[in-house]
Amino acid sequence: MTTTPPPSLADLRAKALAAAAPAAPKADAAIVCERLVRIFTTDKVEVQALQGLDLTVDRGDLVALVGASGSGKSTLLNVLAGLDSPTAGSATVAGCDLLTLGGKDLLRYRREVVGFVFQQTARNLLPFLTAAQNVALPMQLRGGSRKSGRQQTTRVTELLEALEIGELAGRRPSELSGGQQQRVAIAVAMANDPAVLLADEPTGELDSETAAGVFEALRTVNRELGVTVVVVTHDPMVAGEVRRTVAIRDGRTSSEVLRRTVTDEDGQETVSEREYVMLDRTGRVQLPAKFVAALGMEHRVAADLAVDHIEIRPDDHA
Ligand code: ADP
Ligand code: MG
Repeated sequence: MTTTPPPSLADLRAKALAAAAPAAPKADAAIVCERLVRIFTTDKVEVQALQGLDLTVDRGDLVALVGASGSGKSTLLNVLAGLDSPTAGSATVAGCDLLTLGGKDLLRYRREVVGFVFQQTARNLLPFLTAAQNVALPMQLRGGSRKSGRQQTTRVTELLEALEIGELAGRRPSELSGGQQQRVAIAVAMANDPAVLLADEPTGELDSETAAGVFEALRTVNRELGVTVVVVTHDPMVAGEVRRTVAIRDGRTSSEVLRRTVTDEDGQETVSEREYVMLDRTGRVQLPAKFVAALGMEHRVAADLAVDHIEIRPDDHA
């Protein structure tokens, strides 16, 4: 009988070097941002809202974005929505390259490829139209392959019912609660069946119970209509319910939490959670600030390759 010897460190190093060439971005991803930069210049003062942000979101996923105020979350969402253009880097959404998109293509992108829900309920709906008319509007504005009047009516009914607001179809925004308005806003954003739904603190103006209902509506469209959802939220409860939560710090993705539901032998379900730090294509990682502080690391660290992990120690070369 022959046994395979464990790989030597030299083998591992050779393998690591061979793998060091940047991997091609995943072809099936809904969103790929690489080294995304957005600099705002006001009165000759520069603000770097996005500082080389990397983010990949798989098709069909529901991802929560969290981070302190001013960390760049809205800037990122506005770029992804085609409402703002990045200063540098690359961003691809559903195969559309946002850096080269312009004119008619950009308009089509905003109307058909992405849907957007703002925090301010009033910003999402036209006040003089009913819920049903608000949902029908993006279908009427769309160019190219437009649905017939009857198909539009069917789609409006389907969407409102899926979001459990079918009975509110004839009401104007002023006759709806904040939570109901946000659910109509989700239906509006979904009208043209976008690939990606972006929601910037959609529950920010709502109490927590109402917020839970709106969040449930986002889950429903994600699960039943297959749309990829990226939602910015401050609500730790909401962030704790999704499979993936990405934290943004100083205009960069800094860490993320992945959750998995594990079923044990007795059929008991528990959710296991693990925090990860980002690894970019050039091999840079951002260590958690508390780890770095705990060991007093600064400027440089010693990194060694072990069989199945990398050891990082404070600089001991004094
Ligand atoms: P968040 O949504 O995470 O609170 P933002 O993306 O709104 O953060 O803002 C990130 C940074 O960019 C902040 O410092 C903010 O002041 C700045 N910023 C955002 N939009 C603009 C703008 N249009 N002009 C100038 N600075 C801006
Ligand atoms: Mg914001």
